[in-house]
Amino acid sequence: MSSQLLSLTYIAAAALFILSLKWLNTPATARRGVWVGEIGMLLAVVGTLLRHEVVEYQWILAAIFLGSAVGVPLAYLMPMTAVPQRTALSHAFGALAAALVGAAEFYRERPHGFAMGALTIEVLLGSLTFTGSLMAAGKLQEILPTRPITYRNQNVVNLVILAAAVACAVMLVVSPASPATAWLFPALVGLALVFGVMLIVPIGGADMPTVISLLNSYAGMSAVAMGFVLNNKLLMIAGALDGSSGFILSIIMCRAMNRSFTNVLFGAFGQVQPAAAGAVEQRTARSATPEEAAAILDAARLVFVVPGYGMAVAQAQHKVRDLYEALTRRGVDVRFAIHPVAGRMPGHMNVLLAEADIPYDKLLEMEDSNSEMPQADVALVIGANDVTNPAARHDHSSPIYGMPIIDVDKAHTVMVIKRSLSPGFAGIDNELYYMDKTMMLFGDAKAFVSAMTKELPAAAA
Ligand code: NAP
Repeated sequence: MSSQLLSLTYIAAAALFILSLKWLNTPATARRGVWVGEIGMLLAVVGTLLRHEVVEYQWILAAIFLGSAVGVPLAYLMPMTAVPQRTALSHAFGALAAALVGAAEFYRERPHGFAMGALTIEVLLGSLTFTGSLMAAGKLQEILPTRPITYRNQNVVNLVILAAAVACAVMLVVSPASPATAWLFPALVGLALVFGVMLIVPIGGADMPTVISLLNSYAGMSAVAMGFVLNNKLLMIAGALDGSSGFILSIIMCRAMNRSFTNVLFGAFGQVQPAAAGAVEQRTARSATPEEAAAILDAARLVFVVPGYGMAVAQAQHKVRDLYEALTRRGVDVRFAIHPVAGRMPGHMNVLLAEADIPYDKLLEMEDSNSEMPQADVALVIGANDVTNPAARHDHSSPIYGMPIIDVDKAHTVMVIKRSLSPGFAGIDNELYYMDKTMMLFGDAKAFVSAMTKELPAAAA
C-alpha cells in the first residue's frame, strides 16, 4: 500500500474512532457508535497489515486465529453481569501486547533519547496494567479475595517500588549504551509487574470497576507511548482517546459513587463497613402479591421504573418491556429512572433496556427523574438497592453517604421487586424497605414482573 493511501486509511480510522466515541454518548446512537468503531478498527488493522514492512503473514494469521479462538467464545459465553472482569482481561492482554512490543523494540533497535523515553513509559505502564488488570479481574470473579488487604506503610512500599522502576527507566534513557542496560531493562519490567499487583491489593472488590476504568486509561497511555516508539500516528490517536476516555469515566464513576479520586489512585478503599447493619433489624417490611401490585399500577398515572443489578441478573428486561407496553396501552405514563452506576458497569441499564427496545426518550437521567419523582404515583424498583437507599442522603455513618441516589422515597408509593431483604453491593441494609409507603414484592425479577403483567387485565376489571 502506498504511503499516501496508508495515511488516508489512518486518518479515516482516526475520524471513525472519534465519531464512535461521540455516538456512544447516548443510547439512541450507541449502536451506530459501536459499528463505526469496529469499521475504524478494521481499517486500522488492514492498513497496518498492508504496510510494505510486513513481508510475512503466517505468524500474524496464526495469532489472529488463536486470538479469535479465545475471544469469540469469551464474547458469547460471558454473561452481561461479568462484563467488568471481561473488560479487565481485555485490558490485561492489550497492555501485555504493548509491553511485549516495547521489549521487542528494546532488544531489536536499542533506541536512544526520546524514543527510549517513550519505550520505557510504554513498558512501565503496559507491565503494571497487565498484572493490575489480572488482579482486578480475579477479585471481581472472586477467584482472589475481594476484601482490601492493607498493612502499615503500604503507600510508602508502593511508592518505593514505583520510584525504583522510574529510576531504572531514567538510567536507561540517560545511558542507553551502558552495560547495565542488560539488567536495568528486566528490572524495570519486573518492578512494574510487582507494582501492578501491589496497586490493586489494598482495593476492595466493591470499587474494582472504577479501578478497571483507570487501568483502561493506563493501557491507553501505554499505547500512546508505543505510537511514539513505532512512529505510528494512529496508535497515538487511538491510545490518547482510550486513555482520556478511561480517565474521564473513572472521574464520573467516582462522582456517581461519591468516592474520592485520590483514594482510587492510592487504594485502601472499598471496605464494607458493618456500622449501619443491624440498626433496622426490628422493623417489619410490608409485602404484596403480583395481583395487588398490578391493581395499584393500573390505577396510576405516572410510574417510574428504577432498574438495578437484580434486573440484569434475572435477565428481566424483556418482561419489563411487556409490562411497559401493557401499562402504556392502559394510559399509564411509564418512564425509567437511570442511575449512572446502577448494575455493575456504567451504562449497564441503558444497554439492557435498549436490548429490550424500550424507547430511548423514556429513559431519564437521575437528575431529571428526581425532579419529577414527587409527582409519580408509583416508583417501581426492579432489582435495585443501593442506588435507592435514602441513607445516602442523611446517614453520615453509612458507607454510601453522599452518593447521589434516585429519590424513589419521594414517590407516593414505592414497590420493590427483589428476592429477600438482603443487602446489595455495598452490603448495607436499606431503610426504604421499612417505610409505610413501601410494598415489598418478593421474588425473582423476571418471574414477578411477568406475573404482574398477567394480572393487569384482571386488575382493570
Ligand atoms: P445492588 O445495590 O447491588 O442491589 C441489587 C439487588 O438486586 C440486590 O439487593 C438483590 O437482592 C437483587 N437481586 C439480585 N438478583 C435478583 C433477581 N434474580 N431478582 C430480583 N432481584 C434480584 O444494585 P444497584 O442498586 O443496581 O446498585 C449498584 C451498586 O453497584 C452500587 O452500590 C454501585 O456503587 C455499585 N457499583 C456500580 C458500578 C457501575 O459502574 N454500575 C461500578 C462499581 C460499583 P436479593 O438478593 O434480595 O434479590
